[in-house]
Amino acid sequence: MFLFIGVFPRERQLATLRFICEYCRMPAPQRVIEVGSRLWLFFIPTFTFSRRYVVVCSNCGGATELTAEQARQPEGWAAASRLPG
Ligand SMILES: [Zn+2]
Repeated sequence: MFLFIGVFPRERQLATLRFICEYCRMPAPQRVIEVGSRLWLFFIPTFTFSRRYVVVCSNCGGATELTAEQARQPEGWAAASRLPG
């Protein structure tokens, strides 16, 4: 019996926020991304594991790690550096 199994990286965008980047100091869209590994069995995706969360600047590519709670509610921590209006 053959068992087709594989693990592939998976990225999922959770939100996009606009605030001043801490790396390039430019007001640019910041993407909140979930990065994980997905197990495939017989060409069917089963589940995702090893999840981590990052916010990536669309201007400079600077990335900062987030906790799962920060990724789920990005408005809270982003409010401090958000642009007015
Ligand atoms: Zn930046």
